[in-house]
Amino acid sequence: MSNLHTVVCVKIVPKPEEVSVAPETLRLDRAGARSEINPPDMNAMELALSLKERHGGRVSIISMGPPFFTPLLRVALAMGADHVYLLSDRAFGGADTLATTYTLAKGIEKLGAVDLIICGEESSDGATGQVPPGLAEWLEWAQLTMVNSLDVDVEQRQARGRREIPGGHEILEVPLPAVVSVQTASNEPRFMDYKIKPWAFAEGRVTVWNQADLAAEAEYIGTPGSPTIVSGLDEAASRERKRIILEGSVSEQVEQLVAVMEQAG
Ligand SMILES: Cc1cc2nc3c(=O)[nH]c(=O)nc-3n(C[C@H](O)[C@H](O)[C@H](O)COP(=O)(O)OP(=O)(O)OC[C@H]3O[C@@H](n4cnc5c(N)ncnc54)[C@H](O)[C@@H]3O)c2cc1C
Repeated sequence: MSNLHTVVCVKIVPKPEEVSVAPETLRLDRAGARSEINPPDMNAMELALSLKERHGGRVSIISMGPPFFTPLLRVALAMGADHVYLLSDRAFGGADTLATTYTLAKGIEKLGAVDLIICGEESSDGATGQVPPGLAEWLEWAQLTMVNSLDVDVEQRQARGRREIPGGHEILEVPLPAVVSVQTASNEPRFMDYKIKPWAFAEGRVTVWNQADLAAEAEYIGTPGSPTIVSGLDEAASRERKRIILEGSVSEQVEQLVAVMEQAG
């Protein structure tokens, strides 16, 4: 068994059906929404835990967000992770993906020896998919995005992933340490283990680090570190379905279809 240290990035997100956008600030209004682990991050956790079963080592969870995330992150411990690190400071608020990835990278650097970072493919709220490549850039590590399966050769310090592409699949190899993102629904996340739930919910399983703990530079975090500006918000016009039923022979239907398409421009 190896000392493989895998870090899973877990974002806590509002349940999509309960969130709205505040028209004054153009930011997500999460006040009335319940939170959950970003669903793709459950796939990331499952992959990390299955690697731990195969190769040994440990799995750490890292998350950036407010203190109320803590109880939800304990679910990851009850699934089999070893420790949670929550990066939490008012100064981290308002972060875009650049500032988020800088902050997460500072947390991962503080963890010391890390072999592999596994992320979900995207969050259900921001949904940029920029965090995994952004982390790889800050850390100057290899990246392997959108895999649906992965194994590592700990001795050779290599990760080998499989990615579905239109018409086939790719097998990709990268050297460790590496950042990997996992396709949603690529595996079946395990349930919490109720036998270890009391351990997971005990004191001392979650470490909270603030800006000073990370020695994070003020100009790179939160709003000052976020060049992205939401300049406006438009509602996408919804199109009524026309429900046109084509009739007649095949060639007549083709003629009608071409006419409809020409009309629609
Ligand atoms: C101008 C601007 C202002 C913003 N202000 C705020 C704000 O005030 N408050 C706020 O909450 N959000 C804010 N956001 C959203 C914020 O940028 C994103 O939540 C964050 O950068 C992650 O991007 P994403 O959600 O697109 O992640 P993606 O890149 O889609 O996520 C991919 C994967 O990265 C990992 N990941 C992503 N975020 C985290 C995280 N926080 N911790 C651990 N792992 C993570 C997960 O594994 C996830 O599956 C703002 C965005 C913009 C553009």
